[in-house]
Amino acid sequence: MSITSTEVQLAARPHGEPTETDFRLVRTELDQPGPDQLLVRNIAISVDPYMRGRMNDTASYVPPFQLDQPLGGGAIGEVIASSVDDLPVGALVLHDFGWREYALLSAGQARPIEPAEGASPTLYLGALGMPGLTAYVGLFDIAAFKEPDMVFVSGAAGAVGSMVGQLARLRGAQRVIGSAGSAAKVRFLTEELGFDAAFDYHDGPVREQLKQAARDGIDVYFDNVGGEHLEAAIGSLNPFGRVAMCGSVSGYNATEPTPGPANLALVTGKRLTLRGFIVGDHADRQPDFMAEAAQWLRSGELRVQETMVDGIENAVPAFIGLLRGENTGKMVVRLR
Ligand code: NDP
Repeated sequence: MSITSTEVQLAARPHGEPTETDFRLVRTELDQPGPDQLLVRNIAISVDPYMRGRMNDTASYVPPFQLDQPLGGGAIGEVIASSVDDLPVGALVLHDFGWREYALLSAGQARPIEPAEGASPTLYLGALGMPGLTAYVGLFDIAAFKEPDMVFVSGAAGAVGSMVGQLARLRGAQRVIGSAGSAAKVRFLTEELGFDAAFDYHDGPVREQLKQAARDGIDVYFDNVGGEHLEAAIGSLNPFGRVAMCGSVSGYNATEPTPGPANLALVTGKRLTLRGFIVGDHADRQPDFMAEAAQWLRSGELRVQETMVDGIENAVPAFIGLLRGENTGKMVVRLR
């Protein structure tokens, strides 16, 4: 007996900000699992900024999404039929076939997860998943954070940024500064996550707001945003400062190439290091990250925030909303 599944397909390549007409919901039929396959009912799907790049027809570190085909991305699902002995019915799995209600997977495409008692499986899409590992690798390996560095992170109230600030604080940062896109997010950073200072980048030039918040400069900048933020950070970095170039979400919907920092020449005189990275290259750090992050979660020292949206029909609005800053913490679509 086949199963009917609704999936989100790419109907057109977005120009600038995506619109709902760039996508369509399609009902498909899935067969029961064949040998070495499992059928999974997705319970939560991840919505991530990098998906915007995959909607363009350009070569990158991940292949572009194909027109008239389902989108993909991280998801948590429950196995509902299986011919794989170690992934039986009822098991929870993490996989890359999100943006659909059901997925027919081969054994190697799914990884079992076992959330701690009482913990939400969606943690594996955020704090204990790809965004958490991104924060960990970017801060500790790429930016070579060491106590008592002073750290600035942009996109600070998002999935990656909220982890970066907290990890820096927990590992002994002298000062943690964040920027975000609203007064409510700024309060969240200082009142709930323990940031020493935060500002809303809409409130004035980032360069001036950062100078005000970081009177003794910064040693590390974790860049989620690019553009004006990167230029401001270069201006505030102390000699031998390091930048983890994680992403540049301010330009993801741009229709023209975005200009680089006008003060790049400072990199030489200040002996700065700017280093890009892709989390997928750092899977070897997963065990260290999980051990440390899980312990901080258990002790309550690490706070997790999620923005939940319900239903596959709301996945596209959630994605458009993510790029507009409608999320605090990890944006997740929960499926019934
Ligand atoms: P977030 O949860 O941070 O969501 C995206 C956020 O971007 C929004 O909430 C919004 O917050 C912010 N934003 C949107 N437009 C702008 C703008 N013009 N200027 C400043 N901020 C803006 O997403 P993630 O935590 O998942 O990702 C954060 C960054 O990390 C992204 O750049 C992403 O591409 C990158 N990334 C890189 C990885 C790697 O391997 N290198 C892996 C994972 C993520 P606000 O309200 O504050 O504007």
